[in-house]
Amino acid sequence: MQRLMKNLGVYLILVVLVVSVVNMFLTPQTAGPEVAEVPYSQFKTDLAAGRIKNFTINEMKAQGRYADGKTFVSNIVGVKDVAEEAAARGVEVRIAEPPETPWWMTLASSVFPTLLLIGVWIFFLHNMQGGGGKVMSFAKSKAKMFLDNRPKVTFNDVAGCDEAKEELKEVVEFLKSPDRFTKLGAKVPKGVLLLGSPGTGKTLLARACAGEADVPFFSTSGSDFVEMFVGVGASRVRDLFDQARKYQPCLVFIDEIDAVGRQRGTGLGGGHDEREQTLNQLLVEMDGFDEKTGIILIAATNRADVLDPALLRPGRFDRHVVVDTPDVKGREAILKVHAKDKKFAPDVDFEVLAKRTPGFVGADLANVINEAALLAARGGKTEIGMAELEEGIDRSIAGPERKSRLIGPREKKIIAYHETGHAMVAKLIPGCDPVHKISIIPRGSAALGYTLQLPAEDRFLASKNELTNNICVLLGGRVTEELVFGDITTGASNDLERATQVARSMVTQYGMSSLGPVVLGRQRHEVFLGRDLGEDRNYSDQIAFAIDEEVRKIVEECYVRVKKLLSDNRDKVDLVAETLLEREVMDGHDLAVLLGEEEPVSEKSEEKAASESAGAPAPEEPAPAEEKAADGFIPRAPVVSNEMAPMERKEPPSAKGE
Ligand code: ADP
Ligand code: MG
Ligand code: ZN
Repeated sequence: MQRLMKNLGVYLILVVLVVSVVNMFLTPQTAGPEVAEVPYSQFKTDLAAGRIKNFTINEMKAQGRYADGKTFVSNIVGVKDVAEEAAARGVEVRIAEPPETPWWMTLASSVFPTLLLIGVWIFFLHNMQGGGGKVMSFAKSKAKMFLDNRPKVTFNDVAGCDEAKEELKEVVEFLKSPDRFTKLGAKVPKGVLLLGSPGTGKTLLARACAGEADVPFFSTSGSDFVEMFVGVGASRVRDLFDQARKYQPCLVFIDEIDAVGRQRGTGLGGGHDEREQTLNQLLVEMDGFDEKTGIILIAATNRADVLDPALLRPGRFDRHVVVDTPDVKGREAILKVHAKDKKFAPDVDFEVLAKRTPGFVGADLANVINEAALLAARGGKTEIGMAELEEGIDRSIAGPERKSRLIGPREKKIIAYHETGHAMVAKLIPGCDPVHKISIIPRGSAALGYTLQLPAEDRFLASKNELTNNICVLLGGRVTEELVFGDITTGASNDLERATQVARSMVTQYGMSSLGPVVLGRQRHEVFLGRDLGEDRNYSDQIAFAIDEEVRKIVEECYVRVKKLLSDNRDKVDLVAETLLEREVMDGHDLAVLLGEEEPVSEKSEEKAASESAGAPAPEEPAPAEEKAADGFIPRAPVVSNEMAPMERKEPPSAKGE
């Protein structure tokens, strides 16, 4: 059928082409080659002189015979004038009948445009579907159906989100033996919503569910429902559930559901749009599940805040499973999962690596292992060592090392001092997060150097003191430039931006200034665009002025403090900077040795592992996220890159079942 339709399109176009070509050739051709063409002027004079015997007017041509028997043809202007003049002179003149077009030609020329349109339309329809579906299969759902070839992923491949796993295991249990639950009258969730930041393993979890449960699995994504034709999304939803009903019990997975599930009535173009119809259809379908329906819907999103409340209410996605950013133990487990089929050197300690990677999600960790494996392979090694893994982590934070970037000796010196400034402030102010690494090897597209501080343990709260310390550390780079070179560079722009941001948050969000414990301003966001648009100012101009003054005061006080601190310790700054210039990279231990705080140890990795496990006890509670303090020394234009995560946490980890 579909083949036929496709061919029909081609045939139609062909027929139309042939007809038009034939049409061209069939246009009546009058004068034969032996007939002499005479100019009109000649024709007129000949006619007036009576030299013409007879002729026939065929449209705008006169063809005939001279009295001497020769034939002629001439183009003429007015048929009537010529005919009347000839008749008046007694010349025999005939008017030819207008040429008759064959009936089929007339028909063809009137049907021609229509046929062409239909042909093109069929062709177009066909190509749009990539030759796959039927001609009218727009309305069919694009969900991939796995009946026997279900994903091979199991729950063992997912680590670091044990609570989420437990909840989903229950779902799987239900799918395996629904009777056990229904006999007891237990209501089984209709919809499970997986919430979590990108890369935490939501998609992976859903696939694991399908792999574990012995049922058909439909996998689709929110964006599959979005098409340029109105109504298509809704009918795709209908089709998806029609199919699912045929195969129940089964699992339906909708990834990135926010593409269709956004709050209704917030479209920029006004109310009733395509997305709304799709969402409505989804709601209707979910209401259609009764207690006995064996369809379980799993959806994933990282933007639960933009979802329509109707989707979240009981009876729809009533079970919310938060897939957290993994904590230290979780990270270790994830690293081990990804390390399963790779060879590692005996000194590789995943516990240490987990401590080095606060804030990393599953996808980042998978990437770290992969980068390390690539590096080891490139280096011709047979196993992955600690050095490659460390480099993998650095790459994840700040992009690959760019040794080729040419930096002049003077700039390099400035960068070394700048980074030393950050590190020394962190060293000299008690209570700052310990310095883990300083580097002046340029990385990624933006950072020329960086100082990495890692908190000794996962943390949720920041005290006023810690925030001020953060500002001081951020200012350290700029202050050192000023102290040492008597001039300042653009390299500190990102530091300053972040310092100001921390100070502003202290004043407006955390109530940590003389303006008192109040929150000033409100974050405003546009749900349809899905991003924050800025701040609603709910305070007066005077307060705005006072805020600016407070922010300035906080930053300036820190500046003065840092300046005094660094000038008092100028000798240490010089020592560290010179050493950094030489070695390019120093870790926390190197720095401590240099400053005479620690004994140098020859077996570096052993010492590191020992100090790490002794110094920082792993927290009992699983903690979702940590601060990641990577400092970037930015060339000329200020670029905000991802590595520079803000120091403050804006919102508490979302509780489940909110
Ligand atoms: P999300 O859907 O939450 O954005 P994905 O499930 O697509 O994240 O994760 C991407 C990849 O990261 C996975 O294929 C897997 O290799 C890795 N990954 C993420 N989270 C985990 C985890 N908890 N355990 C193991 N691997 C993970
Ligand atoms: Mg995903
Ligand atoms: Zn800096």
